Amino acid sequence: MDDCIFCKIAHGEIPSKKVYEDDKILAFYDLDPKAPVHVLIIPKEHISSAWDITEENSDIVAYIFQKAPQLAKELALEGGFRLVNNCGDNGGQTVKHLHFHMLGGRFMAWPPG
Ligand code: 5GP
Ligand code: ZN
Repeated sequence: MDDCIFCKIAHGEIPSKKVYEDDKILAFYDLDPKAPVHVLIIPKEHISSAWDITEENSDIVAYIFQKAPQLAKELALEGGFRLVNNCGDNGGQTVKHLHFHMLGGRFMAWPPG
């Protein structure tokens, strides 16, 4: 996707503060953190939102969740973390490339606003 900011970050065309990277996913610090630790985990492949997860591409979601504990340990989130996806306008999604927010470093209130 030519005009997708997270595709550009995934391809290194826009700089980001990387936390983890492999051939399938990238994790990097959010530009506008909502918690003491706020990292975004994205698939390198462009998927617009959770609406577009299918039988064919859902492996990447399992892969992200598989990597999450390792990432959380590296980020010193032993107290716990929130891993959240915003989907669509009512879900609060602003960037139309699938991403999961890893938030931690403080107690995360529930329900969210
Ligand atoms: P959403 O609102 O779509 O769930 O989350 C998008 C997130 O991306 C927001 O938390 C926002 O701060 C972050 N963000 C938007 N543009 C950039 C950017 O260019 N670099 C980084 N690191 N984060 C960004
Ligand atoms: Zn994209």
